Amino acid sequence: MSCLPFLHRTSAAAALVAGTLVHATDPQALLTRPMPGKPEWTRAHVPIRIYGNTYYVGSYGISAVLVDTGAGLILLDVGLPQSAPQVEANIAKLGFKLADVKYVLNSHAHFDHAGGIAALVRDSGATAIASPSGATALRAGHVVADDPQASDVANAAFPAAARVREIADGEAVRLGDTAITAHFTPGHTPGSTTWTWKSCENGKCLDVVYSDSLSAFASDGFHFLADATHGDLTASFRKSIRTVASLPCDILVSTHPDASGADERLAKLAVRREPNPMIDAQACRRFAAKFEKMLDERIADENKAAQAH
Ligand SMILES: [Zn+2]
Repeated sequence: MSCLPFLHRTSAAAALVAGTLVHATDPQALLTRPMPGKPEWTRAHVPIRIYGNTYYVGSYGISAVLVDTGAGLILLDVGLPQSAPQVEANIAKLGFKLADVKYVLNSHAHFDHAGGIAALVRDSGATAIASPSGATALRAGHVVADDPQASDVANAAFPAAARVREIADGEAVRLGDTAITAHFTPGHTPGSTTWTWKSCENGKCLDVVYSDSLSAFASDGFHFLADATHGDLTASFRKSIRTVASLPCDILVSTHPDASGADERLAKLAVRREPNPMIDAQACRRFAAKFEKMLDERIADENKAAQAH
């Protein structure tokens, strides 16, 4: 029943009568129809100011970050389809208007980060922005064919977003006093994008990094090394990891908070703001090193498997 306040009035009334059947048939509810995931991916987290104009509005396990530009809001990722109402409620709890969200930027087009974008775009009137490959997936509501996890068909499809714009590598989304720059970091997906901006508090401006996933996960049968279907992907993946390592980085939030220790930093932030536990100048380098090791192990396994044949 907790979802009722977020349904349109007519469907809310119908839901009281018809129960969960409404969720399956109401086109409004289709965009937030639950997809399975780990419990913490949808566990509600209170919204919290990270630093300056930057806020955390995601769940315990999946990040969503809000930036108040002074001339509208920019949201980075939403989470699963069913998390959209939670993110919308968090934006409202901070005192902001959903209609002021002008852009929703995406890290990568997998259901656990992009599944809720369609509902957010519908409810706010915002435009989604992603890399060309990411935009293709958001428009289709389906991972791209060359995604390392494309053959995990159970999770391949998610709600398609209505308004999607492409951005180029190094280009910035500008709104109000803020410029959020796209850094293409392909590897986890072909369209993976890391976003950076400056956030200021009491006259002190810091570099904030919203890093995309750098994990070398893939479906069975996929290779990051060259195979019959594609060339070697490991060099561009390694370049992405090194891009994140070398970014000016005072504050790191990763798409999965626990992948970079951002979950622990957020927990500390809830109990003290000074000194701000989110500030960690080594966080990007540690995060990159952790996933470079994972890539090395993955390549070693692929080489071993190739030699066994
Ligand atoms: Zn992913």
